[in-house]
Amino acid sequence: MLTVSYFSAGVSSAVATKLMIGEIDRVMYTHIDDQHPDTMRFVKDCEAWFGKPVEIWQSPLKSVDAACRYSGFIKTRRGGANCTRWLKQRVRKNFEAEHAGAMRIVWGMDCTESERCERLQRSMPNHEHVFPLVDRRMTKEHAHEVLRASGIRRPAMYELGYHNNNCIGCIKGGMGYWNKIRVDFPEVFKARSALERLIGFSLFQGMWLDELDPERGRHEGPICDDCGIMCELMALPPSGGDGMANAPRQGCEAYPERGCSAS
Ligand code: SF4
Repeated sequence: MLTVSYFSAGVSSAVATKLMIGEIDRVMYTHIDDQHPDTMRFVKDCEAWFGKPVEIWQSPLKSVDAACRYSGFIKTRRGGANCTRWLKQRVRKNFEAEHAGAMRIVWGMDCTESERCERLQRSMPNHEHVFPLVDRRMTKEHAHEVLRASGIRRPAMYELGYHNNNCIGCIKGGMGYWNKIRVDFPEVFKARSALERLIGFSLFQGMWLDELDPERGRHEGPICDDCGIMCELMALPPSGGDGMANAPRQGCEAYPERGCSAS
């Protein structure tokens, strides 16, 4: 059976991949243009550490902005991110379509995330799933220690005080996160604010990003789950399907042909 690591370019995922590397046939990373530029440095450092090539895949939409404009919405109120669907889920499914049979997939969840592991197993029952950090009772902190010992620098987003290596301006972030982005990456803050208004969907119900009080929110703890499969699962309605049933039909100047009206 083919064993694949879905490497997210986060620390936990890197350590999980390293722990299993002797059994892994392919390491797959899905790139998004909104990642911090230091991400590719990290991917290359990890590639050398793994001793195996990291395959870089990417959606033709490439960026969060393009994915949101293309589909005319940003995320569901339940938290499912539209960008994950287009920029990660579709790419992963294309990858999986190359292999007719079941795969063994290596994931970076840690020992505090066993409930998520169970959800993942339920949602992808045709594949075998491996959680090296859970099996070794490792936390995120342990994973960071292992990486530090390897001599590889963490992706720059961690050094800037973020809790994962998601896109800059992750649409799943809370108010404290966005106020930090406003300071660290003002051009991204401005662009996402404009996107919200264009599509007619506010990340914080009833309040536009450009109206956010700079004193609101605290940037503590993970801003949100690492982007990836858990984000995809959040987008799924309880009964299954592709999550699109939850998509808000909002005004969209960019894509009126999708039935949206100008906001
Ligand atoms: S990291 Fe955030 S912004 Fe980027 S694709 Fe995932 S949910 Fe979207």
